[in-house]
Amino acid sequence: MATGEKFDKQGKSLTCTYCGNKTFFTRETLLNTAGMTFLNLDWANQTAENYICEKCGYIMWFLPMPKF
Ligand SMILES: [Zn+2]
Repeated sequence: MATGEKFDKQGKSLTCTYCGNKTFFTRETLLNTAGMTFLNLDWANQTAENYICEKCGYIMWFLPMPKF
């Protein structure tokens, strides 16, 4: 069975906002789905990072931020 890992985001250790756990699985999700196109996002067709809490399954999403 795969084991979750700890991650740092912007100098802070990633923590589940729901249960406070600090180990996650990661995956990437393509954002060019039909549901996203109506939002007309600049980051459509890019990938979002998903961090899935190893303990409770809560998914945190990180979008690649467009440069303003
Ligand atoms: Zn959790």
